[in-house]
Amino acid sequence: MDDETKEKIRKLALQNALDHGKTQDKIVLAKVLGQESHLRAHVKEIMPIISEIVASVNKMSASQIRKEVEQNFADLLEEKPKHEEQQGLPPLEGAEHGKVITRFPPEPNGYPHIGHAKAAIIDEEYARMYGGKLILRFDDTNPEAERLEYYAAIKVGLDWLGVRYDVVKNTSDDIEILYKKGKEMLEGGFAYVCTCKQETISANRREMKACKCSLGEQVQNFDRWEKMFSKYKQGDAIVRFRGDMKSENTVMRDPVMFRIIETKHPLLGDKYRVYPSYDFAVAIEDSIDGVTHAFRTKEYELRNELYYSILEALKMRKPKVIEFSRLGFEGMPVSKRILRPLIEEGKVSGYDDPRLPTLEALRRRGIRPDAIRKFVLSLGFTKADTQAPFETLESFNRKIVDGESIRLHMIKNPKVIDVSGLPKTITMHNHPTKDLGTRIVELGQSLLVEEDDLARAKPEDTIRFMGLGNIKITRNDSALEGQYTGDDLRQDIPKIHWLSENTAQRLKILVPSILFHGEEFNENSLEELNVFTEPYYNQLKEGAEIQFVRFGYCRKDSQLQAIYTHK
Ligand code: ATP
Ligand code: MG
Repeated sequence: MDDETKEKIRKLALQNALDHGKTQDKIVLAKVLGQESHLRAHVKEIMPIISEIVASVNKMSASQIRKEVEQNFADLLEEKPKHEEQQGLPPLEGAEHGKVITRFPPEPNGYPHIGHAKAAIIDEEYARMYGGKLILRFDDTNPEAERLEYYAAIKVGLDWLGVRYDVVKNTSDDIEILYKKGKEMLEGGFAYVCTCKQETISANRREMKACKCSLGEQVQNFDRWEKMFSKYKQGDAIVRFRGDMKSENTVMRDPVMFRIIETKHPLLGDKYRVYPSYDFAVAIEDSIDGVTHAFRTKEYELRNELYYSILEALKMRKPKVIEFSRLGFEGMPVSKRILRPLIEEGKVSGYDDPRLPTLEALRRRGIRPDAIRKFVLSLGFTKADTQAPFETLESFNRKIVDGESIRLHMIKNPKVIDVSGLPKTITMHNHPTKDLGTRIVELGQSLLVEEDDLARAKPEDTIRFMGLGNIKITRNDSALEGQYTGDDLRQDIPKIHWLSENTAQRLKILVPSILFHGEEFNENSLEELNVFTEPYYNQLKEGAEIQFVRFGYCRKDSQLQAIYTHK
């Protein structure tokens, strides 16, 4: 383990301890892997080092921690910009109007989520800002993880977000071109075929030792390259970039350019078995696609050196690579590694479970695409990791849905009140200020109210029943009774919502909350409320946003179920 990595681990552990008093192995590991994706293959090796560092940091007092941070990592103490600040996107370096080409390159290995939304929106905004083009490119060169349904799901997600792309393509469309470029790398001596075992390759990388395969003659490389397409099995051989085994940047220690994957590809079927690595494919594709500005998340930063080295070797045009931070919500995982098991174990219902930050789930929950765009742009273009509060997204959403949401009454814990003198029908406004129409409400002799609302009401008290009028309580002991006294507006009395008992109907409301507290799964993350509401609910379209008066905004999920959006 190099000192630089150890120092990074120490910095992350100190930062975590600075924020939370103590730190933990698992948290530090997650942060390290988030920043240094190349270490994902070396968890076993770094874990003991992390444990050692965490133990030593946890022995320190708060002031010792602060002192070490001030001395060595003063950047951690800088003020972070506020989320609410409207920062917008800064101008793009080297951008010429009409010539900017960006791309959004999802791997079709999962459902699109809020992080993808950030990437796609930024890619699109810049393309539009400079009158350029956006390419949607499915980065599909690992058939083990990719499935046809995900190509479709990603398009559906982007359409819903309102992200319009000018070109759609797949990296796999260009596989023959990628082979040609691979061969050029071999011809130029920029790459070689390695037949060592995975353990040997890892050990050599750690020990910064050149592999004997890198010393072989050209003809050996061409012979082996041919065999990758026929004789060799998966794991027998890989093409490696001739980087620098002594480089401080571990990415440069002769990384993989091609490997054999004997799995059916969702689009290509069994036709091919040699697939380019992410690093090779992304560099070549960005270059031939004419991409001028290539955005990716900052954990790829160490891969930039490799990206440019590949293009340099092949004398190909170099796009400008720019990093931004990953976006996520506290306690709402986006990573497939975490999501898949949750779904498989039935802890969430599927990719559209309203507790998740997938686009499908956010849509079902009542979050609007425009709110997501405003939210993403409000965060601006920082490199610091953004664990944005979900409430910031909610406040953008509230501004959009408020004017469109029909106000309905809903009762959770009903109590019956018999009322004399009620009119037979009344007309209620669907929105206090916007013209969203009216509804006719039929009244019988009894109403339902929220138990708590009238628990302390005494005979002679007058209560305002919203939209209906004033009711004087005449009895509140074993039974609750009242008398309708007309519709004069009075400001000085309590206001409550209510339902007509004979038309009230059952509804289930799902109330999602945060899925994880720290590392721990929140068993109570989905509350089910069995409530009553007005029959007018049935007439609303599925997907309609409603405000249940004195409760909050909800989206109609079905005739029987609504999902709580936010306050
Ligand atoms: P994962 O596989 O962990 O979900 P990924 O980065 O491998 O994440 P891709 O499908 O390859 O997912 O991502 C497509 C694009 O979206 C990439 O440019 C990537 O940088 C970006 N992206 C993915 N996740 C996030 C995120 N949380 N925040 C911002 N951008 C993201
Ligand atoms: Mg990926």
